[in-house]
Amino acid sequence: MAAGSEGESHARCRVIAQGYRVLDEERHAVDYRPSVWGDYFIKNPTLPHAHEKSLEWMTERRDVLVNEVRKMLAGTRDLLCEMKLIDALQRLGISYHFEDEIHASLEKLNSVEFKNESFHEISLQFRLLRQEQHYISSDVFGGFTDNQGNLKDTLHADVRSLLALYKAAHLGTQKEQFLIKAQKQTKSLLTSSMVDHLERPLVDIVQHALQTPSFRRMKRLEARLYIPLYEEDKEECNELVLELAKINFYLLQRIHREELVEICKWYHGLESPRKLFYARHRPTEAYFWALGVYYEPQYAKARKLLAKFRATITPYDDTFDNYGIWEELEPFANVMQRWNMDEVEQLGECYKDFARFMFSTMIEIENALPEDIARRNVDTIRDIINEVCKGYVIEIGWRDNRYIPSLEDHLKVTLITCFYWAINCAAFVVFEENVTEEILKWMSTFPQIVKDSCIISRLMDDIVAHAFETERNNVATSVTCYMEEHKTTKEEASEML
Ligand SMILES: [Mg+2]
Repeated sequence: MAAGSEGESHARCRVIAQGYRVLDEERHAVDYRPSVWGDYFIKNPTLPHAHEKSLEWMTERRDVLVNEVRKMLAGTRDLLCEMKLIDALQRLGISYHFEDEIHASLEKLNSVEFKNESFHEISLQFRLLRQEQHYISSDVFGGFTDNQGNLKDTLHADVRSLLALYKAAHLGTQKEQFLIKAQKQTKSLLTSSMVDHLERPLVDIVQHALQTPSFRRMKRLEARLYIPLYEEDKEECNELVLELAKINFYLLQRIHREELVEICKWYHGLESPRKLFYARHRPTEAYFWALGVYYEPQYAKARKLLAKFRATITPYDDTFDNYGIWEELEPFANVMQRWNMDEVEQLGECYKDFARFMFSTMIEIENALPEDIARRNVDTIRDIINEVCKGYVIEIGWRDNRYIPSLEDHLKVTLITCFYWAINCAAFVVFEENVTEEILKWMSTFPQIVKDSCIISRLMDDIVAHAFETERNNVATSVTCYMEEHKTTKEEASEML
């Protein structure tokens, strides 16, 4: 098609939410944008070395610093100092060098009586231990509350302690009233302290914490954000630890850049995905996702396999809801669920190409795993992908009939089609070590903890994409279902969800 006529036909397209154009009303197809990364990493394979010292020097220096910090950890006599050091190592993304030492410290910490006089210390101890799944009763905070269970007035001005409690409170359960209350109270006190008088570096540190508690953040990203905050915080910053964090980050960044080049070359080098003109091609984003799961450098193999899996499933979703129509999708779904390469050739263009892509990625994962467990483990993922496929077919039926199910019925299907369950299972399988049959059986039952993360994923996705999906006449979102069922506005539904 000539550039001019393409421009003209684009001009006639309906423009919907987020500026997308509906290219084909029957196929519900929009013009997904290309990845912002394109072939950037392929064209710029190595990170420019801007450091004044050589790479060899940096690697050696890192090892020296790891030893120094190890000694520091062992030699600390003051409990608060030791806890602050562990916290810093974890947030700076270097704690994986000291796993044994930190584990031993926390075991010791678990047996130490909580000191009743230091609010800051108790909050930090409570958080570090709960982060490691040690049960600590929230009664330890009892001495700091008044008769109504609120924080005593005398504590309101101590910003560092409030911050420590604010972070600790996010590790509470729904039954721990004190922590629920403390979360709200510390948030409000910290917010007003920021507005009133707080100066740098504390104001930056508080702001960062109020956005999202650190332990919930993606590790490598948190390291990148926290390094400058730590450097700025002269009261807490240890120069050796800071130097280690910076060098380590740089060295890891080089490794990740190399891995990413490998993933991008793999993806863009394959023939099949190139033919899927309607799909989002997101190998870089997929790699970033995998890095969120496997951030320790030694898990390179698992990280890369998970990235490949993640990059393969985005076009699956698009084949169903940005390209396919019912008559074509039915035979496609049947072939996809049988996993038989011989049947792929009967399929039409694009369907054939996607099937090849998906089947070959799964074979690649299977071939990368130890022979005795490979088939069994990858079959577990295949079975879950089949559930996703069945769900997709139901969704297309709903879409074409403009059917709006109840929220409950909607979630029964869409918690599976959000693909989170399959990604979770894949993350276990590619890890290899200690992935027993029992674990896989448990994973196959769609366990509650996985279901819960699917709920978060599905609802967040639907709230954000509601206008976009609705305007291209795609399947009803959970927002629409809630609105219909409870006769609310879109805003009320989003708020409730
Ligand atoms: Mg979609």
